[in-house]
Amino acid sequence: MTAVSTPATGATGLSPGQVAELRERARHEAGPFVDPHLAQRIRVHNAEWASAILGHPFPGQHRITWPELYLLHIAAEAEPSPPPPPATAAAARHRAEQETARAAVEQAYRQQVEEWEQLAAGLGRLGVRAEVRHNYTSHRHLGHYTQGGDHIYLLDDLHIGRLRRLAGRVLCFTRSRARNLREFPEPARDGRPPTCRACLTTARRITTRGAVT
Ligand SMILES: [Zn+2]
Repeated sequence: MTAVSTPATGATGLSPGQVAELRERARHEAGPFVDPHLAQRIRVHNAEWASAILGHPFPGQHRITWPELYLLHIAAEAEPSPPPPPATAAAARHRAEQETARAAVEQAYRQQVEEWEQLAAGLGRLGVRAEVRHNYTSHRHLGHYTQGGDHIYLLDDLHIGRLRRLAGRVLCFTRSRARNLREFPEPARDGRPPTCRACLTTARRITTRGAVT
């Protein structure tokens, strides 16, 4: 048995034994002179595949010997559709994964924006104008409510059932949290949706059950 120096790249589906046979054939069949008609027709699948067949890095179709080119020719006949080259396939997979992740983030953001539009409209029907404001008081996070997040800021007094909030406060405002909910100097102007879960939970509750007075 002759040692087979095919790199284990997975770029060819041919077995080491098949590649060895093809090399043997090429040695016998290629002859010393280039067959120009055949040479024109030879198509190398890809560099990784050619390297696996040759057993050394493929430097390009015009920089290999005629017997090597002939070897690639009969190998391409033996394997008309090789597996996708590993590096190329891995890069494509990576790109696809990144694209999917990016699309998921965008989709989630679009859904948040849409939900906020519906909540703001619902609050409007209750006679309460609201906008998104960032909390500049603190950037610490406490339990389920986000101090540094983007809250639902009320421009009108809200009085629904037992829930009362004055204009100029955020929907998640309570006396115990007052110290951490002081600084809401300006509305967010970039169209961002609120991220405060306490604000969102309350807004969903009061807009879905409607006005309870
Ligand atoms: Zn809030």
